[in-house]
This record gives sequence, C-alpha cells and structure tokens, in this order.
Amino acid sequence: MDLRNAGVTNTQVLSAIERIPREAFVEDSFLDQAYANQALPIACGQTISQPLVVGLMTQALELHDRHKVLEVGTGSGYQAAVLSRFSRRVYTIERHQDLLEEAERRFESLRLRNITTLYGDGYKGWPAQAPFDRILVTAAARIVPRELVEQLSENGGVMILPVGDLAGADQEVLRVRKEGKNFTTERLFPVRFVPLVQGMPGGQRN
Ligand code: SAH
Repeated sequence: MDLRNAGVTNTQVLSAIERIPREAFVEDSFLDQAYANQALPIACGQTISQPLVVGLMTQALELHDRHKVLEVGTGSGYQAAVLSRFSRRVYTIERHQDLLEEAERRFESLRLRNITTLYGDGYKGWPAQAPFDRILVTAAARIVPRELVEQLSENGGVMILPVGDLAGADQEVLRVRKEGKNFTTERLFPVRFVPLVQGMPGGQRN
C-alpha cells in the first residue's frame, strides 16, 4: 500500500515485490527491518536498495515478459529477483565475489532459475550477451556509460540508471531510450546510490 501511494502503480511490479521475500536478502541483524521502506547495509560496504526505489525503477523500465534484461550491481540479489519474476532472462553483474556468491545461493534456494550471473566489471556491460532490451544500473555513475548504451537494443531499448555525484548527493535516475543509433535521455527522480566503480577490487582485470 505504501509503495502504491508513493507512485508504484504498475500491478505487475507490485505483485513481483509482494512475491519476493526481502527478508531472504538482508543480513540477519536487520531482519526486523526487512519490510521497512529503507535501504539497508549489506556486506562489502554496499546497500540493498529501498523498496520504493526498486519499485519505481522497475516500473520505469517498462518490462515485458519477452525482454532480455541486464542488471549492473547484483548486491544482495534482491532487485534481480524482482526482475526475474517478469522477464525472460535476467543477466546480472557484480564486482564483489562474496556478494555475488551469496546472491547466487539465494537465487538457488528461492528456485529463481532464469538469472545468469557474472563476476566482473559491469561498467563494461556484458558484450557476449548484448544486445539487451532493458538495462538497469543499481549504482550511480558520473555520466551515462557509453559501453552500456552501445549494448542496448536499437529497437526501443530502455536503460534506467542513477547518474550524478558519487558522494551520494545530487543524483537522479535517468531513462535512456534508444532507437537505431540515436538515444534520448529523460530525468525521472532524485536518489542516493553507492557509486558505480570502474575496474575490479584490488585492481585486477576481468
Ligand atoms: N541491486 C542491489 C543493490 C546494489 S548496491 C540489490 O538489490 O541489493 C550496488 C552494487 O553495485 C554493489 O553491490 C556494488 O558492489 C556494485 N557495483 C558497483 N560498481 C560496479 C561495477 N562496475 N560492476 C559491477 N557491480 C558494481
């Protein structure tokens, strides 16, 4: 009800959020806050997004069940789980191996079988799987990464991503629509995300 009142009007998005148990994605010490409308800390200094932001960004993607979707920033895996409820296949990339392994265990125990994971630098996208009908970035970049726009479908591809100051202030969610080689950008709403970091922890390459 809170999400609906705050603007998540798409009933498919609401039911996907209703069906994914957020408590399975938070740390034990935050279990009592699993259904509060707030972001919570997870391992590696990262956060699981606020349910309202998950709802609004998922809704803004204009998903269809035949879409091939890329998420950058698996984190806890919660957003990927929500996406998996109504898209054909979800590809998700994370640069922290510990987080990714934990998210994979959650997908397995919830029997979410249409999520494919990659340990790597999502700033570069996933060229071997491109093009994607939809791309959702859940960490804030300073600018729209060109590699990701390139991997977006030329046939009405949509990308939702937070862009702005990496300290967390003055970020906003943008919607990029691509038709042929051209794309347009629309500003949606303000947010606060952890930064999209280029490269891998410890400087290794993927
Ligand atoms: N979608 C997540 C929230 C993620 S927080 C959820 O539902 O829980 C942002 C995540 O993006 C963090 O886990 C961070 O490690 C990851 N990240 C940041 N930069 C990245 C990059 N270049 N490639 C892949 N993942 C990245």
